[in-house]
Amino acid sequence: MNPHTPETPADVVARLRATFRTGRTKPVEWRTGQLRRMRAMLTERGSDLAAALHADLGKSSTEAYRTEIDFTIREIDHTLDHLDGWLRPEPAPVPAHLGADATAWTRYDPLGVVLVIAPWNYPAQLLLAPVVGALASGNAVVAKPSELAPATSAALAELLPAYLDTDAVAVVEGGVPETTALLAERFDHVFYTGNGTVGRIVMRAAAEHLTPVTLELGGKSPVFVDRDTDLDVVADRLARGKFINAGQTCVAPDYVLTTQETAAALETALVRAVDALYGGDPASSPEYGRIINERHFDRLSALLDSGRVVTGGDSDRTGKYIAPTVLADVDPKSPVMQEEIFGPILPIVTVSGLDEAIDFINDRDKPLALYVFSESGETRDRIAAETSSGGLGYGLPLAHLTVSDLPFGGVGESGMGNYHGRYSIETFSHRKAVLDKPLN
Ligand code: NAD
Repeated sequence: MNPHTPETPADVVARLRATFRTGRTKPVEWRTGQLRRMRAMLTERGSDLAAALHADLGKSSTEAYRTEIDFTIREIDHTLDHLDGWLRPEPAPVPAHLGADATAWTRYDPLGVVLVIAPWNYPAQLLLAPVVGALASGNAVVAKPSELAPATSAALAELLPAYLDTDAVAVVEGGVPETTALLAERFDHVFYTGNGTVGRIVMRAAAEHLTPVTLELGGKSPVFVDRDTDLDVVADRLARGKFINAGQTCVAPDYVLTTQETAAALETALVRAVDALYGGDPASSPEYGRIINERHFDRLSALLDSGRVVTGGDSDRTGKYIAPTVLADVDPKSPVMQEEIFGPILPIVTVSGLDEAIDFINDRDKPLALYVFSESGETRDRIAAETSSGGLGYGLPLAHLTVSDLPFGGVGESGMGNYHGRYSIETFSHRKAVLDKPLN
């Protein structure tokens, strides 16, 4: 390739497809080799990524390692530990009419060239974790980081080619025009994380080529807080899950449903919890992040008067700072309850009890995550059985996505398909059916 002529998206895909056709990405040794190289990248250059994440989102180094760098290392290690077993052909029972000598099994074939499009909120993790699965499955990969996290995008565009096989892994930076041009190409799978509006654009473009998609979307993830729970523990876990990354987490608790009497006690507990996490002045806490850009800051600021401010409520546009905010007495018709908040604002909506909470959830789009704080087995079982959500967390928000053996993904408006661990192999491979009937 001529270093002076930038490759077009078509060139990139053609180059990667040519590599895939040679068979180079298929041996398990190539796959594990690439994962080890990515692991080395994260250990040797993790601090560069952490600095970029700080520049983009004000993420503390602790948070950057915990939620992005070490998170991805764990995903790599889990995959390296189990890949041989996951790829093992699986025998299938053969019906009698085929004779006793016939055998059948399934095997995992790589798909080819896959496109991974990442968002800005966990811009390293959400690009790299799908790439881990795509490489472990033996594919060539085009990785498109989010232009809204420019420092992280630039760091990934420098680091991935420095560590990985550049004939099989390419990073394409850019925004809408570049992504649109990429999506015009034929891929064998498109893995998109972001909002549902763009999800539809991605799916439409993929449909032209009959390319399957995974859509990791978002939405409003509700929390039900039952009475008779330890509200100090609830408030601490809720505040951690909500305010990490300044609330810009796809599985963040979006709003709380609880009864009037529990709400009053929960409010006090939340004030204490926020204070314990970030001190009296969260703006000066190194652990508290910032809003990604002015557009999102303005969108979020307009939601701050959707209820009675229990804690927080203040903001600073220059610093893109919005305080960890809890709103009470929130009307379900208020602006903050219309769309995914995706910021550090936690509304409390009161309901008469479990039945109304379940109806409230089922009246809305199927969420990416649903959280329940309850000691009652019956309550927990009813919510599991009577609602639909991508994931369900009892007692601890966010944590289900750190379990590598659980599929991570949405349902309905919150997405389609899933990944992590062996589920990434399912997503990025074709499970081929094989029948063998001996000739004699
Ligand atoms: P974003 O604006 O960074 O967009 C995501 C990607 O789509 C980017 O790479 C961007 O370049 C691309 N894109 C934007 N407009 C496009 C267009 N018109 N055509 C083609 N590509 C385009 O991120 P976002 O969408 O603001 O991310 C936030 C949303 O993502 C939230 O709804 C959140 O819940 C969801 N999310 C989901 C998950 C998950 O794992 N399910 C994780 C993180 C975020």
